[in-house]
Amino acid sequence: MKKITILIPAYNEEEVLDKLYSRLKQVLAKLNDYHFEILFVNDGSKDRTLDIIKTLQKEDTMVSYVDLSRNYGKEIAMIAGLDYATGDAVVIIDADLQDPPELIPQMLQYWKEGYDDVYAKRRSRLGETWLKKLSASTFYTMLQKFTKIPIQENTGDFRLLDRRCVEALKQLREAQRYTKGMFSWIGYNKKEILFDRDPRAAGQTKWNYPKLLDLAIEGITSFTTAPLRFSSLLGALISIFAFIYMLIIIMKTIAYGESVQGYPSLMVIILFLGGIQLLSLGIIGEYIGRIFNETKRRPLYFVDEYNGKRV
Ligand code: UDP
Ligand code: MG
Repeated sequence: MKKITILIPAYNEEEVLDKLYSRLKQVLAKLNDYHFEILFVNDGSKDRTLDIIKTLQKEDTMVSYVDLSRNYGKEIAMIAGLDYATGDAVVIIDADLQDPPELIPQMLQYWKEGYDDVYAKRRSRLGETWLKKLSASTFYTMLQKFTKIPIQENTGDFRLLDRRCVEALKQLREAQRYTKGMFSWIGYNKKEILFDRDPRAAGQTKWNYPKLLDLAIEGITSFTTAPLRFSSLLGALISIFAFIYMLIIIMKTIAYGESVQGYPSLMVIILFLGGIQLLSLGIIGEYIGRIFNETKRRPLYFVDEYNGKRV
């Protein structure tokens, strides 16, 4: 019998865990052809999340948990979970019930048919503001323009991954992780399932606009060097214009002699070029910062305990 790991990253989710657990159990009870492991990754929660998980683990042998040493963010929590998952396939699901567990049987069905990565695509985004929808769609369009690998739009981390995909993802040890892009990057047979994403069952979202902007910059810089290309193209274009303008000025001086006019144009050019230079430096800086972080080669996370054992 195949074993499936249900991987749940959880950060301050005390309000929903019990609800999630009972709904999950209901779904899994109908799937008698598989063994299941429910693996919680406690991402340094400050509330009773860990206590609740520990209680569940005592009552149910299916449940295991990894307790991280602090809050590392969802991307790191997910790779920690993949490192500890023991199943032949892993289903990553949010703790807040925005990803309906009822989709798992269908995912398993496609997995049985031979697909390696069965991902759930949102048909609608209930309970999200128009601003979030707009910013998300603009971001996807931009990212898609820049990168050569197809990035799946309106797709979260809710998906079933075959062991092959898990092993592939485990080899991508970059510290700054943009997991959504990695799922595409590793390839393998993908299958999409459409679903309606529910609003959060309870508790608060951990995302805010600064964090989302961060994720967007992360996504672009970790998947493409297009911004660097953009700044060199801009530089080349401006140089050509500057050269033409220089010729015009020389001709004018030869024809009409020297005059002290031209303060406004001088100012405009200086400010414009200064702006472009700072922008380009900023873009280069983003990449250098990332190189700096990756060259440290730190472990991605530290584990406090695994199923009660100190690691
Ligand atoms: N999460 C986590 N670490 C964090 C933030 C979030 O493990 O630092 C988990 C969280 O518990 C949830 C999932 O990631 O299971 C998605 O988080 P959230 O619902 O806040 O994001 P949203 O659904 O709003 O994108
Ligand atoms: Mg959520």
